[in-house]
Amino acid sequence: VNHNDWKYQNLELRLCSLAQKIQPMKRKKPNLDTVTTINKDGSRFFLHPADVKGVFTASRRLVGYVLILLFVALPWIQVNGYPAVFLDTLNRRFHLFGFTLAAQDLWILFFLVTGLAFTLFFITALVGRIWCGWVCPQTVYLEHVYRRIERLIEGDAVQRRRLDRAPWTAGKVIRRLVKHILFIGVSLVIAHIFLSYFISLKELWQVMHHKPSEHLGLFGFVAAFTLVLYGNYTWFREQLCIVICPYGRFQSALIDAHTVNIGYDARRGEPRGAKRLNTDGDCIDCGQCIQVCPTGIDIRNGLQMECIGCANCIDVCNTVMKRVGRPVGLIRYDSAEAFSGGNNRWIRPRTLFYGVFLLIGISVASFSIAKITPVKVTAIRMPGMTYYVTDHVIRNQYQLRFINKQNTEAHFRLSFSKDIPGLSAAGLDQEVILPPMGEEPRVFVVMMDKHQYEGPFPLELTIQTTEMDSSIVLKLDFMGPDVRLMREHQNLSLPRSN
Ligand code: SF4
Ligand code: SF4
Repeated sequence: VNHNDWKYQNLELRLCSLAQKIQPMKRKKPNLDTVTTINKDGSRFFLHPADVKGVFTASRRLVGYVLILLFVALPWIQVNGYPAVFLDTLNRRFHLFGFTLAAQDLWILFFLVTGLAFTLFFITALVGRIWCGWVCPQTVYLEHVYRRIERLIEGDAVQRRRLDRAPWTAGKVIRRLVKHILFIGVSLVIAHIFLSYFISLKELWQVMHHKPSEHLGLFGFVAAFTLVLYGNYTWFREQLCIVICPYGRFQSALIDAHTVNIGYDARRGEPRGAKRLNTDGDCIDCGQCIQVCPTGIDIRNGLQMECIGCANCIDVCNTVMKRVGRPVGLIRYDSAEAFSGGNNRWIRPRTLFYGVFLLIGISVASFSIAKITPVKVTAIRMPGMTYYVTDHVIRNQYQLRFINKQNTEAHFRLSFSKDIPGLSAAGLDQEVILPPMGEEPRVFVVMMDKHQYEGPFPLELTIQTTEMDSSIVLKLDFMGPDVRLMREHQNLSLPRSN
């Protein structure tokens, strides 16, 4: 047999197509009105996508492994004495690549999250669901870890389907046991690494050497997260993308006819059918693109919400096209405009709008992060009376919160920015010393001699620290009664305290 002969290749494809006809997947023809993975009675139709090889599959796998490596490595990489990403919720400190955010700095996250959201919007408007197919943890771990293990133990898609239908023999029990033990093991590892982002690797190691009863909260978290991962990657799988993930739902609002998505070139492919191999459309209707689809759709029906942009159908169709001697790219990355014969436009009002908001969010967040200081002091007026009037002074009370974000002691010295006659404060001459990562609220009482008081005035408090070259300046308002009223009704009309 000449394997390069297109007649032989056609026969091979026809046989392949015939083989698929007897598979459940072929019997369940994807359409636009129903979800392939949900049966008419509401039960689950479990998919076993076929293996696929090609340039996109190899590239996605590489990207996936790099991301997994990054996830595992980040808690080990030390920057400024902390893991590169350490969300220390216990001490309310968030260490991100050398920057430390205190709980009071979390407003920056608003701009960071907004910037990242608009980055996603921008990318979606340009190249569709590239996130889902290439970098989303759901796809990365399902395709490059869990399904690979399943493939190793239970065989290819046809063998897996056969095993599903097979009676519970010893062989099936052993295969399933091994698979589920490995799935639970992998889920446990992921859950522990995830936990190390919150309590650090050192503490995780110590916790792991204690009894679960000594760290019930952490143990419960790891157990619950492991269960969620195991249930998701073992059973729920593509349902998360189809049923739960909101991004798939609102992507239709983010894209337009110029967005580059994975699509089928109907002008080139139709009319489809193996019998027209040498005549009309290029699609030989082999059904391979459906067989490899992890969400069970037929891309030839057009862009659908279930499509996660994994490019499996591109790779498999390119293989088919090469075999039948047709140009590749019947299924490819392109825009709806280009598929219908027009020209694609990258610069559009939508991409400009998202781009501007992306830049604003990222710029503000970067600027704010660059301004983050190793120590911080905030001031708020104490709840209750705005001011107190005693026989001799008017008193204002503030709460100063001293925050040390570094792993060495911090020293704070307070003084008024300028001398104001009659103004004094309790504890002004005492140095505040905070331990590493410490945080301390202090009551700060400012008093004004009644006879020198001439109405409310702004007040500046300078805080010198050994950790910063520049000092921290807090702007406060000293409040008090109306001077004329105070003079006239000094003993009757004003709030009093002892
Ligand atoms: S689009 Fe390609 S893979 Fe899909 S049925 Fe047609 S030829 Fe086969
Ligand atoms: S249609 Fe193609 S790109 Fe979309 S999910 Fe299915 S295989 Fe992946």
